[in-house]
Amino acid sequence: MTPEIDWAKYLPLIGDDLPDFDQEDVMTRCALAVHTFLEKDVGFVRGVERRVEVDLGQTLPIQAVWDIEMGDAETARGIVDWKSSFESIVEEWQWRTSSAQYEVLYGRLPEFFEYRVLPPKGKARVIRVDPVPARARRETYDFFQPIDAYISAAASGSAGGFWSRNFRACKGCPGYIACRGEKPPETKFHGDHLSKSSAEQFLFCPESLRAGHKQQNRYMVRGLSMHRILAEIWRDHALVGATK
Ligand code: SF4
Repeated sequence: MTPEIDWAKYLPLIGDDLPDFDQEDVMTRCALAVHTFLEKDVGFVRGVERRVEVDLGQTLPIQAVWDIEMGDAETARGIVDWKSSFESIVEEWQWRTSSAQYEVLYGRLPEFFEYRVLPPKGKARVIRVDPVPARARRETYDFFQPIDAYISAAASGSAGGFWSRNFRACKGCPGYIACRGEKPPETKFHGDHLSKSSAEQFLFCPESLRAGHKQQNRYMVRGLSMHRILAEIWRDHALVGATK
């Protein structure tokens, strides 16, 4: 039976800055996740929102957050990721990156990587990489290698210069004025790791990663709220040993 959920406990985790219709959207998707997946996950979750950082042999370690690590107390089995939508080209790097990390941590690939897509209407969708191909680690290394090489060369070279700027990517970027001047903002690149999202930002515009320009829209805030609530519910009810 699906555990009884005290929704009032989780409502405060929604971002205050979200309009009412977005708050409703978040709760609808969370209810769909609970209805579809919670019962079968109870007792088979050994980690929730686990931040993992591993060294793949490059200058910067690779970081990712595993929404759910499936398995029991003794044995890890696979990784699950919540999605409010699925952009296949972007998500392709997520299963590869997390599977490569998993292999470094446990000395073997995960048995599966599962995307759980939660639409605002209709049924949840499951997209599963099973089995995970052995090439995941090599492809992850190859993806990050040129980015890592650029960053380590740029960060140790003539400090203070712009990194490569992609002026086709400027719409909505907070660096718009500074990037038209002669000197870049004082901000230095302080990153001590790479991740799928920082690599994407680098590929979008290297200078925006160096200067730490963040673009956040309501879809991102909505996605963060959804992840926050699902993490709390899964911690309370599905983790191995959870008693609540
Ligand atoms: S950081 Fe990149 S995207 Fe942002 S304004 Fe400068 S060139 Fe444009």
